[in-house]
Amino acid sequence: MSHGNTKRSYKAQKVLERFEKKLNRQIVGSLVACVHCGNCTDMCHYVLTNPDDPSYAPAYKADRIRRIFKRHFDWTGRIFPWWVHAKSIYTDQDLEDLQDIVFGKCTNCRRCSINCPMGVDFATFNRMARGLLVSVGVMPEGVAVVSKDQWELGNQMGVLKEDYVETLEWLGEELEMEMKDPRANIPIDKPDCEVVYSINPREVKYDPRTISDAAKIFYAAGENWTMPSEHWDMTNFGLFSGDDDLGGAVARRLYEKTAELRGKTLVISECGHGYRSTRCEGPNWAGMDVNGFRMESSVITMIRYIKEGRIKVDKSRNSIPVTFHDSCNNARSCGLYEEPRELLNLVCADFHEMYPNRAENYCCTGGGGAMSMSEYTPRRLKSAKVKADQLTATGAKIVVTSCHNCVDGLTDLIKHYKLGLEVSQLVNLVANALVIEPKVVEVPAEVAPTVAEPLSLKGRRILVADDEPDFVTFVSTVLQDNGATVLEASDGNQAFEMAKKEIPDLITLDISMPGKSGMEVFELLRNTPETASIPVCIITGKPEMRKLIYDRPVPPPEGYLDKPVDEESILLNVRKTLVLARDK
Ligand code: SF4
Ligand code: SF4
Repeated sequence: MSHGNTKRSYKAQKVLERFEKKLNRQIVGSLVACVHCGNCTDMCHYVLTNPDDPSYAPAYKADRIRRIFKRHFDWTGRIFPWWVHAKSIYTDQDLEDLQDIVFGKCTNCRRCSINCPMGVDFATFNRMARGLLVSVGVMPEGVAVVSKDQWELGNQMGVLKEDYVETLEWLGEELEMEMKDPRANIPIDKPDCEVVYSINPREVKYDPRTISDAAKIFYAAGENWTMPSEHWDMTNFGLFSGDDDLGGAVARRLYEKTAELRGKTLVISECGHGYRSTRCEGPNWAGMDVNGFRMESSVITMIRYIKEGRIKVDKSRNSIPVTFHDSCNNARSCGLYEEPRELLNLVCADFHEMYPNRAENYCCTGGGGAMSMSEYTPRRLKSAKVKADQLTATGAKIVVTSCHNCVDGLTDLIKHYKLGLEVSQLVNLVANALVIEPKVVEVPAEVAPTVAEPLSLKGRRILVADDEPDFVTFVSTVLQDNGATVLEASDGNQAFEMAKKEIPDLITLDISMPGKSGMEVFELLRNTPETASIPVCIITGKPEMRKLIYDRPVPPPEGYLDKPVDEESILLNVRKTLVLARDK
């Protein structure tokens, strides 16, 4: 196609063809409505930090896109292009120039929209323009890399499945040790849970403390929860790149995984663009009716737990002055204004509001994918002066935000302007304020080792299932010396058959055995009506396996003991198991 004597490049031609397909009522409304009143100019952080450069003004930037629309899709521009400043694109350089504006001079923060008398939403068609450029391969390199990772590996930081699962297991083990409770863990792919927890890959790669803090909160709340082993990324680079196909694919994977696990609520960890993409935009991009489960920000989940009395918090543990930064996507785009403040006031003793705030808050200046576009870093940091001044004026020592992207943006500008503030998230503060009552298994006086008359084992029939003959001999001798009748099984099949036939008063069960493993036997016992109520005490030399027992979809064992064992520990635990089963 040509314009006069100028031949249009292949990419420019494709952009024009795709432009028409992107036009909808919302975008056309914003493209035609501007009256150039200038109300939006001082709303933009780029303008405030570059007062002498008109190319940063929202209306100027919008007009770079608007003039293409007018030239091709609006009758005024088609007939009188000179009158309405309509202008087409012809060369690849034209596209590069457009890239510099739509990616490099705007974070799609939408602050310029709030004062517009005509309801122009520049960020909406700026995102559309990004998508058009991306469709012909014109984009900052960082955008291409991150998009590729999210397409190919399912998450935007290229985290491999084995690294993700290993990190969750490691964090789960640490939590178990900290809580001294084998039920404190991070369940993976557990079906039929109340909560499926989805995260930002940044948490696995750079900030695993946010995962362990969330796990601690779920544990303290007694939540039945899980994390998916795959399709767990709730972020969506499609929002930043303007690529609706990527946006739809990423959102669909998460929705389908949640449905596959039959989760009741998809909880989205603290991330502004992740929340907006998953909760608000994703169903449209994916073309799906998402109605099998609810979607909720983890901020709401944490407030619920406190209000329902499921967790207790002590705000005096967070006594350092904090302020709150509203993420543009959470606040301006999704209306999450009051909830984070409500939570902050529940868990922090000294909260200082930042001004302006809520819908009028300034971008962290790392939004819209800006953190991945290193070529624009100097511009970004220059524009961040606005945010730096806002932060300094609060007098706070910690800035809290509910967005991983904002954590990075704020951290970078705090370092650049040497502000000396820490950046934190609500999940960290809630976990720090948690008052966790020790989960003591009360041992009734009659079974305590110091009481005069411990529970008698006389006449009790106990099945000892273990493939180590020496161990079986030792345990059997201890139990027989205390009056019990002992049955012995040396593999899983034998253990189950004997349990079914003999219906003993208690089974001590090893996890690693030939034939059926102890885990299979345990699940079989629980699922067989005759044996379902026989108390089981797991005795294993592989503590790392214990969580697998507690993760099974059947009631947990009544007792648990690590090898090596001695006479005292065997008797104490066998008695305790019998008493707990009796009192159930
Ligand atoms: S969306 Fe934000 S960054 Fe972009 S022009 Fe408007 S105020 Fe400026
Ligand atoms: S405030 Fe609205 S109408 Fe006025 S210049 Fe900005 S976009 Fe145009």
